[in-house]
Order: sequence, then structure tokens, then C-alpha cells
Amino acid sequence: MLSEYLTHVGRVNVYLDPNTTPHPKRVGDVPCSLPLSLRKDEPVVAIKRADTLQVVIACSPRIQNFDIVVPWKALDFDSKREHVVQCSYCTAQLATFSSCRDLPSANWQELMDCWACHVDFPAVLAKNGGMPAFSPTEHMSYSGTSFLLFHPNSLVNSQSYQSDSPLYKCSSCQTALGIQDEHDVSESVRLDKSCILINGSRIHPSYVVTSELLTLRELNAIHKFCLTDQSNTLYVWCFTPYLPVTLFNSPKLTASFQQSPIITIKTFYAYDAPGDFDAQDWLDIKLLPSVFKEIKDLLELTTQCFPSSAQKFGFWYVGLLPRL
Ligand SMILES: [Zn+2]
Repeated sequence: MLSEYLTHVGRVNVYLDPNTTPHPKRVGDVPCSLPLSLRKDEPVVAIKRADTLQVVIACSPRIQNFDIVVPWKALDFDSKREHVVQCSYCTAQLATFSSCRDLPSANWQELMDCWACHVDFPAVLAKNGGMPAFSPTEHMSYSGTSFLLFHPNSLVNSQSYQSDSPLYKCSSCQTALGIQDEHDVSESVRLDKSCILINGSRIHPSYVVTSELLTLRELNAIHKFCLTDQSNTLYVWCFTPYLPVTLFNSPKLTASFQQSPIITIKTFYAYDAPGDFDAQDWLDIKLLPSVFKEIKDLLELTTQCFPSSAQKFGFWYVGLLPRL
């Protein structure tokens, strides 16, 4: 079960076990933690339903935090030391680098095409020999929203993509850790931020995927995404981009996300394309199979945190993805 703070409406919904007694009358009576601090004597409304005792608390709306936090940006890496990259599945060492720069934006390649096609070739680019290539070197990597771009010489045994596929696989455990993009420079390899450890730390795949989703949403004004690992697709509609929640009696989730409240995006998701599917309204996000599975499992697990009557919205399932 969970409580959610609808920041733009100014309301907290708490979903309790339907047999909870006595019914809370004030905030201080609610037997769980809330996603924001409220005075204990604030009145609450308890509504008994078949599958839950829903407690509704009116509170002030809050201006939403639309800052999108991208994990592992260049500034996060001290250029005076060497950083060690490992496979997050088997901890085999994959690469080292000392400096890192940020790529301009999630879809800078498309923007560059657009720029070059619609204006005279800028003098500054002509002077410098054409488009900036963002080529990593042996010691310098680039940070994209969801991946780091390495020169093959930074990688253990200078290992690159497999000859017959766009996947980079860990030479030790064979898990796919990166997907090549057609726009990447030839001397480069992508490693997905979801699948690596840097200096022993891991970023949860949900933080990586939501950061990419929110970045693309802002750049393209599109709210619907096809998450795909090439074999499977999930249709995900980002309904509320900023939803603080607290979870209770969800040991699997609270083990992965210990801080409380957790900031999430509330999504509607489906396993099949909706009847009114129009490709123009949707953006693809390519995920590695292991990351796709982790995101799918997380959505399904969070659906279970809602009472059964709130788990579906028409055609869609309701699910949460924690974000930074
Ligand atoms: Zn591995």
C-alpha cells in the first residue's frame, strides 16, 4: 500500500487496509508515514471501499520540481583521478577513464541534422572542419543522458561491439551492457548507465530510464513512450512527472529505494498498443533486455501497491517509476 501527494492538486491519498479501525479523523491518527509533513490535528476524510480505506487529506499545492536530474554527469567525476568502470552484473572491470564531458542533449544528433539542413553552414563549423564529432579518447569519455561513450582503447582488451550485432557484451558474464547508435562516431562504444558500476557505485535503472524519458518529454513535448528491448515492448504514458509517495508493506520496493518519500513518475502502461495508437504521438526508448525486465518488474510491483480498484485506468495499468 502507499500514500501519494498530488502536488498540483494539493491532496494526499492514503490507501490503507480496508479493515483498518478505528477510522482516522486527524493526520495524527493515520497509521503510516506521509510524503510530506502536516500538522497532526489537520482533519482527514476516510472513505471505506471494498478493497481499501482511502484517507484523503487536503493540503497546499506545491510548485512542481521540473528539474531533470541526469545521473553521472561530467561534473560528478573528479578529473584528477582515475575512475573504474565495472559490469554491474559480475563486477568484471570494463574500462577506466580520467576525464568526462557531457554530450549536448539526449537527441543532439537530430538537432544537428536539422540545424545543418536549414541554415547556411555556420562559419565557425567550417573553420573547425565540420560538425563537432564528440569523439571520445583513451582517457576522456562522454556522458549522454543514459550512457557513457568510450573510446575502445579505454576498454579492457580494447573490446568493441560484437561484429554481427549492435550490442556490447561483458566478456566475463556475456550480459549486454550497451547498444550502438547509428549516429555514434565509429571509434566509440556505449555503456548503459543502468548496467555499470563506477568506482563501486550503481545507479538504479529506474533513475536512468526516467531521466531519459523526462528529458525526451521536455525536448519533444511528447508524453508517451514505447520502451523496447527489440523483442518486447511496453507502452508507457508519463501521466504525472513528479509524484512523491511513501510505501508501506512493500519490502521488495523499500529495500531498493530506502529514502522516504520516494519521488516517482506516475505512469499508465500497457502490454499492447492502444486502439488509437498513432506513431506520431510516441517516442521509442531502446533498452537492453536486462534493463527492460527490471523496469517491467518495477512497474508491475508498484501496481500491486495500489488497491485493486485503482490498479487500472480503463485500458491502462497504473504504475510508478522512481526518479531522481
Ligand atoms: Zn559481466
